[in-house]
Amino acid sequence: MEGKSEKGMIEAKGLSKYYGPFVAIRDISFSIPEGQIVAFLGPNGAGKTTTMKILTGYLAPSEGHAFVAGLDVASNRLEVAKKLGYLPENGPLYQDMTPLELLRFFAEARGLDPDQTRERIDRITRQTSLQDVMEKPIDKLSRGYRQRVGLAQALLHDPEVLIMDEPTMGLDPNQIRDFRNNIRALGKSKTILLSTHILQEVEAVADRVLLVHNGALVFDGTPEELKEDGSLEKPFYRLTNEGRPVSITATEVTAQ
Ligand code: ADP
Repeated sequence: MEGKSEKGMIEAKGLSKYYGPFVAIRDISFSIPEGQIVAFLGPNGAGKTTTMKILTGYLAPSEGHAFVAGLDVASNRLEVAKKLGYLPENGPLYQDMTPLELLRFFAEARGLDPDQTRERIDRITRQTSLQDVMEKPIDKLSRGYRQRVGLAQALLHDPEVLIMDEPTMGLDPNQIRDFRNNIRALGKSKTILLSTHILQEVEAVADRVLLVHNGALVFDGTPEELKEDGSLEKPFYRLTNEGRPVSITATEVTAQ
């Protein structure tokens, strides 16, 4: 990546997570340098959310370490929170609040003073076009608005690192286009990891793809390097179907 530093801004070192005997992720390692936009790609259940929750400090790994801007997230939660914006899978937390209340709450938690709070909330409200809904409860808003509230919360303190879990899920095509344009603009100054199971998303925004299947990293490279015969569909199918039945017959379905 020309002109971009090689310092790892998001790093996973040997991350594993077990739920009893079940292995949700195993031995995941990668390092994302400053300024990269990385798609964390994989089918449902592959381990994307688990990994992202560990990277953001919401979940403790069974093994390994996660670092943001060089800080171990397990032992530097407050410092990491200042440098990190996180959009969780189901949009913002605390959905009974209004966007204004939520943003004030997060501004306080991030240690912004009243002037900074006012200035940042004004700016982010305009950037995410939330002016009309600032005083309505989040759980009464449409999916697209809720997602924008989540993005506003993640961006409020102008973090260096953004981690987003399925950010375009539930958005309509116009909202998806606007969102992807936003991501590309944000990628000029931030390091971004976003999870998705949508191949077009990878082509539209990512410099690099991390592909996970059954809790393990099975590909790390550029979208171009992943492509076979000009398409991402074929390698995605091949790399994520090992160990699964290729087709289910009518008999097998009835037998279940
Ligand atoms: P993805 O985000 O790629 O869809 P997840 O990280 O949500 O995948 O899940 C990975 C696997 O771990 C799935 O099989 C899921 O059912 C399992 N899993 C996630 N959370 C728990 C939990 N709290 N207890 C047991 N299994 C879990």
